[in-house]
Amino acid sequence: MTKEIYLTGDRPTGKLHIGHYVGSLKNRVEMQNSGNYDSFVMIADTQAFTDNARDPEKIRNSLTEVALDYLAVGLDPKKTTIFVQSQIKGLFELTEYYMNLVSVARLQRNPTVKAEIQQKGFGESVPVGFFTYPVSQAADITIFRAQKVPAGDDQEPMIEQARELVRSFNSAYHTDTLVEPEGVFPPNGLGRIPGIDGNAKMSKSLGNAIYLSDDEDAVAKKVKQMYTDPKHIRVEDPGHVEGNVVFTYLDIFDPDKKHVADLKDRYMHGGLGDMKLKKHLIDVLENELKPIRERRQMFAQDIPAVLQMLKNGSDHANEVAEATMTKVRRAIGVNYFDGLK
Ligand code: ATP
Ligand code: MG
Repeated sequence: MTKEIYLTGDRPTGKLHIGHYVGSLKNRVEMQNSGNYDSFVMIADTQAFTDNARDPEKIRNSLTEVALDYLAVGLDPKKTTIFVQSQIKGLFELTEYYMNLVSVARLQRNPTVKAEIQQKGFGESVPVGFFTYPVSQAADITIFRAQKVPAGDDQEPMIEQARELVRSFNSAYHTDTLVEPEGVFPPNGLGRIPGIDGNAKMSKSLGNAIYLSDDEDAVAKKVKQMYTDPKHIRVEDPGHVEGNVVFTYLDIFDPDKKHVADLKDRYMHGGLGDMKLKKHLIDVLENELKPIRERRQMFAQDIPAVLQMLKNGSDHANEVAEATMTKVRRAIGVNYFDGLK
């Protein structure tokens, strides 16, 4: 049986957080370990430049941090090709060809990019590279001929865009070289974990995240700041569960669902204080994060080995990408010098 290919990745704009963990990393590790996939995981540094062009130091530093997060959660370079986007030169080339197959109007309709432009306060001065990042992301996916893309819900418009580009490319150049990808989204609401501030999305760029590398004190401090129910002031007051981030996280991370149901009941009827509830969440998170944190510390002791791992992965990824690009160039007809010395 030929294995399906999956590709996904993260921008090196900071360390990875628990939103990435439940929204994407967990899924990848499962897919990796199932043995049913040829797995590619990319650190998207080129994409990080689209809104951090003047902060290359941040991207450079985050590269190893993200790699450590990967290793900590169980991505295994023996089973998954872990590589760095900027090192795959074919991506720049394929992106350039894709640019001509999509209109400005189509890109303007992308709801995720629209929201991000708002959020980042770009207004009229949105960088061209940022505005067009869904196009380069389509190249990332398709150069590896990935059929599956495990990602958070915010990535759905990107995958749709990639599918359209594949259809446009294959039809413009009368070929079947490129493959339409499909998104693999986490079930029931795990595709977009809210931030500790109650913002709809926990995000590296919004300063509202609990990081996989946070120590126990940092986690406790963040949980204590967490948004609950502003009207729930005294312990006896009845409180709201809906929109209460502490309960959102308990729903996700506490394996004891009956206990969570009990806590909700007590909270809604009055008699359960925020502090006590938060203490419980701290314990639940600590349970999940402690082994990850320990593995991370272990890998962090040998950064040169981490970089070597990324180089090996990038070398392999380049070979795979070049094989696709040879076909792409042939399909477009820019293979003028084939057969010449
Ligand atoms: P940035 O703010 O720099 O964009 P980010 O936190 O959005 O950072 P990305 O690197 O853009 O992280 O996203 C990597 C992957 O993690 C994507 O598949 C994305 O859908 C998923 N993801 C990001 N944030 C969350 C979240 N809060 N809940 C679930 N999945 C998430
Ligand atoms: Mg993002």
